[in-house]
Amino acid sequence: MNYALVTGGSRGIGRAICLKLADQGYNVLINYVANQASAEEVQALVRSKGVEAELLRFDVGKGEEVEQVLAGWLAANPTKHVEVLVNNAGIRQDGLLMLMTNPEWQQVMDASAGGFFNVTRLIIRGMIRQKVGRVISIVSLSGLKGQLGQTNYSAAKAAVIGATKALAQEVGRKRVTVNAVAPGLIRTEMLQGLREEDYLPLIPMHRFGEPEEVADLVAFLASPQAAYISGQVISINGAQY
Ligand code: NDP
Repeated sequence: MNYALVTGGSRGIGRAICLKLADQGYNVLINYVANQASAEEVQALVRSKGVEAELLRFDVGKGEEVEQVLAGWLAANPTKHVEVLVNNAGIRQDGLLMLMTNPEWQQVMDASAGGFFNVTRLIIRGMIRQKVGRVISIVSLSGLKGQLGQTNYSAAKAAVIGATKALAQEVGRKRVTVNAVAPGLIRTEMLQGLREEDYLPLIPMHRFGEPEEVADLVAFLASPQAAYISGQVISINGAQY
C-alpha cells in the first residue's frame, strides 16, 4: 500500500497537501506536534476521499521522538511503503540577529533543518529499497534571497535547499527524486499578525498565494510525470523576489 507522509499536516499548507495527495490516491500519514483537533479534522477529510489516514504525533526537530514514533510505525507496518515524503513542518520566530535569543535561533533551525534530517533519513531507506520515492521539502523565498528579520529562518531554509541538492545526487540512481518548493507569501496562520496590504506592493501579482496552489505543485512533483525532475528548488511566489 502506498503512503505519503506529510509533516505539519494538521494546518495551512500541509493540510492542503494532505488533501491533494489523498485526491491522487495516496493513503496519508498526517504528522503534527500540538494541534490534535486540527489533525483529526484533516484525518476525517482525507478518509472521506476513500483512502486511509493515520495520525503521527512527533516534533520533527527532536530526533529521539521521531525515532520512537516514526521508526516504530515503520517497523510495525512493513507492508506499507512511504513513497512520498513532504517535509513541510516549519516555524518562524522573527527578529533582528543582534537581539535574537539562542532558543529563537535553535528552534527554527530544529524544525526545518533538523526536521529534514530526522525524518528523511528514516524514510529514505525504504525508498531506496523499493527504488521509488519522492522527497519534497517546503522551503521559502527567504532561504533563496535572505530576508531581513529572518536570519534564523533564512538559514534554516537555505540548509534544507543544500541538503536537497546533495541528497538528490546520493539517491538518483535509485529512482528517488528530491526537490524543494519555495513559496512566497501564502495565506496561512503562519502569517498571522502581518497586514496583507503592507506586503502587496512587494508582490508583482499583487496577492498572497493560497495553500492549495502550493499543494498542486507538490502533487505534480509527486506524480510519475515529474520522474526526471530532481535536485531542484521550484518557486511559487507571484513573481516576488
Ligand atoms: P502553519 O503555521 O499554518 O502550520 C504549521 C504546521 O507545521 C502545523 O501543522 C504544525 O502542527 C506543524 N509544525 C510546526 N512545528 C512542528 C514540529 N516541530 N513538528 C511537527 N510539526 C510541526 O504554517 P504554514 O502552513 O504557513 O507553513 C508550512 C511550511 O511552509 C513551513 O515550513 C513554512 O516555513 C513554509 N512556508 C510558509 C510560507 C507562508 O507564507 N505561509 C511561505 C514560505 C514557506 P500543529 O498544528 O500541531 O501546531
